[in-house]
Amino acid sequence: MATPLQTLTTPRRNKLLAFLDNDDFARLEPSLQHVPLDFQQQLYDYRQSVSHVYFPLSGVVAAMRTLSDGETAQVASVGNEGVVGYGALIDAPVASGRAIVQLPGEALRVETAAIQSYALEHPRFRAVTMHYGHILISHLMQSVVCHQFHSARQRYALWLLQTHDRAHRDTFRLTQEIVAQSLGVRRATVSDIARDVQQTGAIEYRRGVITVRDRAALMAQACECYDSMQEEYARLLNVPDSGA
Ligand SMILES: [Zn+2]
Repeated sequence: MATPLQTLTTPRRNKLLAFLDNDDFARLEPSLQHVPLDFQQQLYDYRQSVSHVYFPLSGVVAAMRTLSDGETAQVASVGNEGVVGYGALIDAPVASGRAIVQLPGEALRVETAAIQSYALEHPRFRAVTMHYGHILISHLMQSVVCHQFHSARQRYALWLLQTHDRAHRDTFRLTQEIVAQSLGVRRATVSDIARDVQQTGAIEYRRGVITVRDRAALMAQACECYDSMQEEYARLLNVPDSGA
């Protein structure tokens, strides 16, 4: 159920919306609905028309792709640093993957037609979304090299750090199946890695609930891709005040 925006204390916790000045945000605000992101809620299916675009405030939405034999893998994920339904912002309102809520949270939702006309009238917002598209491509490129050269344990630590950033809390529920699909490894491998990482004191893992105990220790076990992706985000989303 949607919650009135005025009950939100920080409606611009989404980093893309935070780039809008107060006047531009005020013009968008009447079109925004505050909605929960429920665990395993499907926002779109692959190639389905995108009726709404979501700006997460917390939680994680994963984009999944499935092969003809049913094998499914995560190809990207979005938290409060981005937007779900990016294609709709560049006039391609057909989902390029199945969007599933992996970690519950909340989002600001807007109808595709409304955000498209808003983008036409607001060059700064258009510039922010263009820069974000560049970030998406850059992160996908980093993921390719990461999968090729970095160990499953390094990628597990990287993935947990990113999830921690997006969760805005230290404890979150994650099934081994979700982690396995996200990393492209078997569940037994996830179990082994979780045990090893727990032994370093970085996390505590109990019955599908992960608590980040020592973030610095977790960072020490992640590959360089975490820092690289963070730097790329800051560098590429440096949108000039003058807009497009
Ligand atoms: Zn990596």
